[in-house]
Amino acid sequence: MKKKQIWIIAILIILVLVSIPVLHILKTKWSETDSKSEIPKGYTNDASQLNLTKVDTIVKVPENQADIVKQLQEILKYAREQNLKISIAGAQHSMGGHTIYPNGILLNMLPYNHMELDKENNILTIGSGALWQDAIEYLDQNGKSISVMQAFSSFSVGGSISVNGHGWQKDSPPISSSVISFTLMNDKGQILTCSRNENPELFKLVLGGYGLFGIILDVKLKVVDNKALKYKYFRLSPENYVSYYKKLISDNPKVNLVFGRLKIANQEFLEEATINFFEEVNENPLPIKKQNEKNEEVKRLVFRSSVRSEYGKRLRWDLEYGMNKATQHNIFSRNELLNDHVSLIENKDPNSTDLLQEYFIPEKDFNQYLKDIKPILLQSKLDLLNITIRAVNKDEDTFMNYARQDVFGFVFLFNQKKTEKEETEMKVLTNKLVDAAIKNNGTFYLPYRLHIGKEKMRKVYPQADEFFKFKKKYDSDELFQNQFYKHYK
Ligand SMILES: Cc1cc2nc3c(=O)[nH]c(=O)nc-3n(C[C@H](O)[C@H](O)[C@H](O)COP(=O)(O)OP(=O)(O)OC[C@H]3O[C@@H](n4cnc5c(N)ncnc54)[C@H](O)[C@@H]3O)c2cc1C
Repeated sequence: MKKKQIWIIAILIILVLVSIPVLHILKTKWSETDSKSEIPKGYTNDASQLNLTKVDTIVKVPENQADIVKQLQEILKYAREQNLKISIAGAQHSMGGHTIYPNGILLNMLPYNHMELDKENNILTIGSGALWQDAIEYLDQNGKSISVMQAFSSFSVGGSISVNGHGWQKDSPPISSSVISFTLMNDKGQILTCSRNENPELFKLVLGGYGLFGIILDVKLKVVDNKALKYKYFRLSPENYVSYYKKLISDNPKVNLVFGRLKIANQEFLEEATINFFEEVNENPLPIKKQNEKNEEVKRLVFRSSVRSEYGKRLRWDLEYGMNKATQHNIFSRNELLNDHVSLIENKDPNSTDLLQEYFIPEKDFNQYLKDIKPILLQSKLDLLNITIRAVNKDEDTFMNYARQDVFGFVFLFNQKKTEKEETEMKVLTNKLVDAAIKNNGTFYLPYRLHIGKEKMRKVYPQADEFFKFKKKYDSDELFQNQFYKHYK
């Protein structure tokens, strides 16, 4: 063969190799319809897209501190007169109807989003309807940052403290640890201040209390300094995760943010992991820029192209590994990193939905837990899209605590068709995963699908009976209700 022909063949091979992944990602783009399931008037739904429910009224609360108290007191009176129940909604990213009660009054808290910063004492006073993304932008202008929050910024403060979320901030218990105090409107329309000293019983119950004890209004949160952070990552075998975590993260005072990932492509399923971490550097953090929308869309498409595709899953792992290499040692601001929106993983297929599950496992049981979940996940026909790992320190503040010692949180994201068959399969899978967590002294997270029976829930949350007794103590007419309460009480 002539030299020229060899060159042409080589170029053709390179073109084919490059075009396969590009075509795979474009196929995902072309197959998306962008026709979101509309919610009919008078109905509501949550992030699961599986809880379409008719409600009596949806009330958008006022923005104004002076008006909100009066309006909510009138709503409580009306609800009692009409014998209606009240559910409370933030951004509705919980997935089991935690914000919904059939034919009830739904309070949309999002307009109530004022913010004031006490810069000297690092305290942010914020309306419970504010989203983290708004708080981050506000704090950024003042050189401050949220102390503890989830991995996305699309959630409300009230919803986040009511599930007591956790994040990827190093050495951090859940969000409750950063709450100094809050005001609560109780079932009688009175405003109570709750803190570790004032109404301490209610403080413990409301944080992680799923909107069952009243309406949270104003929250005082501890904030921290915004920092410039340098990205690093380490690729390793999952059975060495705990020991490397100690070496790379626990013993390294510079680490500020950290998360782990497990490989979920069938080839080498759960046989590779990465630890991704961000070290503080001695530079001034740059102000957050508007995200580059084109890059965000490419990232989203790479993620979506892994749905129901082994090739896509491998491609995503390799591409992200390549991107890690490229961005290794790049500098980010803490606020920039915390400000990811859930649209980064948005599912535009109206026939399927993405569902989360989370399990919290003590360090000593980490490796056995991994061994136990592997066959369960491999046997399941449901499409696993992601597993991230986060360390969560012991929670000393809430009654319904899930982190009763230092734990590792395993966050699973699945894609499920909106069919009865896959709903049943998900129920079976969830129960198996909960059993694996129980066997390994772990707990499961409560804001997701309600696939666990009352008895099994009490194995993990032995404090549940007492929690629901307290609910009746503070709300004897059970005015505040939702599907979570109906299911587990
Ligand atoms: C894509 C995705 C990623 C996620 N990642 C994480 C994560 O990294 N870490 C984590 O811990 N969780 C995570 N979650 C779960 C998330 O933290 C919870 O669903 C949280 O509740 C979302 O906040 P929200 O504003 O949507 O709350 P909602 O779903 O609106 O409400 C949650 C609960 O809070 C109650 N509530 C809301 N506002 C008030 C109020 N003002 N007063 C009293 N009660 C109120 C509601 O009644 C409900 O019971 C994730 C969820 C999704 C969908």
